[in-house]
Amino acid sequence: RNVSAAPYLETLNPEQRRAVEHGVCENDASPAAPLLIIAGAGSGKTNTLAHRVAHLIVNGAHPHRILLMTFSRRAAAEMTRRVETIARKAMGDRAGQMTQALRWSGTFHAIGARLLRDYADQIGLDPAFTIHDREDSADLMNLVRHELGFSKTESRFPTKGTCLSIYSRCVNAELAIEPVLGASFPWCSAWAIELKQLFAAYVDAKQRQNVLDYDDLLLYWAQAVGEAALADDIGDRFDHVLVDEYQDTNRLQASILKALKPSGRGLTVVGDDAQSIYSFRAATVRNILEFPQAFSPPAKIITLDRNYRSTPAILAAANGVIDLASERFTKNLWTERKAAAPPQLVGVRDEADQARYIVERVLENREGGLTLKQQAALFRASHHSGSLEVELTRRNIPFVKFGGLKFLDAAHIKDILALLRFAENPRDRVAGFRVMLLMPGVGPASAQRALDFMAQASDPIGALADAPAPRRAGEEWRSFVEIVAQLGSGRAGWPSEIERARLWYEPHLDRMHEDAAARLADLIQLEQIASGYASRERFLTELTLDPPDATSDHAGAPLLDEDYLILSTIHSAKGQEWASVFILNVVDGCIPSDLGAGTTAELEEERRLLYVAMTRAKDDLHLVVPQRFFTHGQAAQGDRHVYASRTRFIPASLLGLFEKTSWPKISAETAARTFDQSRRFDLGSRMRGMWR
Ligand code: ATP
Ligand code: MG
Repeated sequence: RNVSAAPYLETLNPEQRRAVEHGVCENDASPAAPLLIIAGAGSGKTNTLAHRVAHLIVNGAHPHRILLMTFSRRAAAEMTRRVETIARKAMGDRAGQMTQALRWSGTFHAIGARLLRDYADQIGLDPAFTIHDREDSADLMNLVRHELGFSKTESRFPTKGTCLSIYSRCVNAELAIEPVLGASFPWCSAWAIELKQLFAAYVDAKQRQNVLDYDDLLLYWAQAVGEAALADDIGDRFDHVLVDEYQDTNRLQASILKALKPSGRGLTVVGDDAQSIYSFRAATVRNILEFPQAFSPPAKIITLDRNYRSTPAILAAANGVIDLASERFTKNLWTERKAAAPPQLVGVRDEADQARYIVERVLENREGGLTLKQQAALFRASHHSGSLEVELTRRNIPFVKFGGLKFLDAAHIKDILALLRFAENPRDRVAGFRVMLLMPGVGPASAQRALDFMAQASDPIGALADAPAPRRAGEEWRSFVEIVAQLGSGRAGWPSEIERARLWYEPHLDRMHEDAAARLADLIQLEQIASGYASRERFLTELTLDPPDATSDHAGAPLLDEDYLILSTIHSAKGQEWASVFILNVVDGCIPSDLGAGTTAELEEERRLLYVAMTRAKDDLHLVVPQRFFTHGQAAQGDRHVYASRTRFIPASLLGLFEKTSWPKISAETAARTFDQSRRFDLGSRMRGMWR
């Protein structure tokens, strides 16, 4: 029945193999009944998905008719790489060509953006739309809010960020405003009517300005596939639709899948309900739990329970943590890896010691043969890595931080991108404002006048030349009009346009920033990144959707060839694995965070978060428990430190699964020598006491 001799199938276990071969016959990869792979961490879900894609291709599926959706662009690139390696075993060099044709792989949002450009004309969108990131969206929300007068009359009106969160939640959860307010934003319930007005005006503004926000990419996509006229068109483009990390999708994404493939034929989704950690972005684990019954006949379910990633001790500790969850996850992971040291639960005095401890261990590991890249430090929130970053910088250890500040968040990068975006779409007011306000002598009122003037015209860029020039801007304004016209015409060509933009911007950079030289280096770096994109539109779209991560040398250098340590939020560490993993601040108030409302559902999500963090480790896992930590990251004015205690997710009953230590280790001799000089060991002894 099946391809007998596919060499790559031999490395798989029987369940994985069944998942890979589901519905595929020799030289026949036509769409099969829907398939759900639901399985625990490290059981090879992603690996199985990669094999399935390769297997489909080897048996004749057209790579450009495969839609592959992952959690990040990085994950998509990694998946494509794996598919190629696997396919190569069966088809040799042809595999390279075939995987290159795997063009439809990426995040839901990135795929949405591409499809919407293709179908823009048919759904009443101008294909030159630009995309707002969260910050731009909040800015536009703010502009609209001001126009409606809500912020002035009522000082207690929700902030622009909260307005955007509420809006986004309604869209992604496919809910009306009242239930969203009731469930998640009770303190804003009094504003339901005004918020509705605001959202209507916000939607209107986006349409007039031809911009889409992140949520629109899903919403328009869902609407487009929901239209009878387009449903078949878009659905038929793809024979196979495969989704990784399905537990973290929202209702809108589930609707999109259902509309793409109403019968479910050709669908494969993969995930782990115990790892659902994005409900704060309206993701719902119901999607994966209800997937089988969403289709008729129902989806085939395959579970995997052998873990290939972690040592038995790490697995036992992670299982221990998740077993205490109030929900039951039915998986019981086992491993054949050989026994090794239990995970370390390390008491330290404070965050500075935590940083020192990690750096010591990282260097020790490196001497033992691990590269930096094989190690990672994971934390609950981006600002928790402050002390560690300082220590790494001090010790000259390069690192890359995922999930924190992005390269593109830096003001100077946003300025240049705003200029390019404004040239791409001169109706984009947020971009227009940003660029105009760079010029001395241009204030919000004159910027608004110019933008209003442009908005009336059928050719906005042409109109800019005739727009009322701010009196005090003179020469500056003329050069601005010129650069926008030049970029708008596309005469300079891509990517030289970005250099033109930079030349225009440089005097402003010099004037505004003391560290202009370092920022200029970033801009040149950006030009290098730009040269990797075929067009300005692709560059702007892809960078907005999935910006490169920040590295230790200034904002720049998104991926260095050299070795570097990975710093990542737990959320961004999803799906990845490292030989050695350090989890920071494993204390109450941090994991679980004390920022949530403290509902049971929120707490349970925090528990799963710790589970996700622990299951990233292959050989070596350290949970660090500072005795004191600052509630908002590094010590800053007005910040309080609190005396922390070990996370409630590791109660005394689980301590047997860990090796408890404290650091620095104090020999009696050193303690005697330094006891009088420093309070350090005073605290140290108290700290050791905390494990008794
Ligand atoms: P997560 O839930 O964290 O996303 P996952 O289920 O997707 O994990 P993978 O990342 O696919 O798991 O696999 C975990 C590790 O196990 C990888 O290093 C992978 O190469 C390895 N692995 C998976 N299946 C096998 C197998 N059959 N034989 C050997 N190694 C395997
Ligand atoms: Mg995975």
